[in-house]
Amino acid sequence: MIAAPLGSVYVLHFASPYHHARHYIGFAADSNATRRLREHVTGQGSPLVAAVVAAGIGVELAAEWIGTRADERKAHNAHGTRVCPRCRRPRARQLRLFTGGSHAAAPTPRRIAA
Ligand SMILES: [Zn+2]
Repeated sequence: MIAAPLGSVYVLHFASPYHHARHYIGFAADSNATRRLREHVTGQGSPLVAAVVAAGIGVELAAEWIGTRADERKAHNAHGTRVCPRCRRPRARQLRLFTGGSHAAAPTPRRIAA
């Protein structure tokens, strides 16, 4: 069995929706999403991203992780808003801050001796 080649799975977040699209999830075989993003914004990548850029909508690399094409497919199936850190509900993020760990509470102000 041959292991699936690793690359970079990435999420592009659009500053405003383009028709119904808010994200583009892609895969860069050479683990370099930044290079791939440059191709997208110069019109050498996905036609969707090219159209978004042509419409004057900002495109941001919101997330990137090492994975395979199968991981890219999984991210597609999960929908962009669930894999995009920019679109996850703030409430969920807030709750996570208070679920323990040494950073759970704000530091108590200390009195500094004069
Ligand atoms: Zn997003």
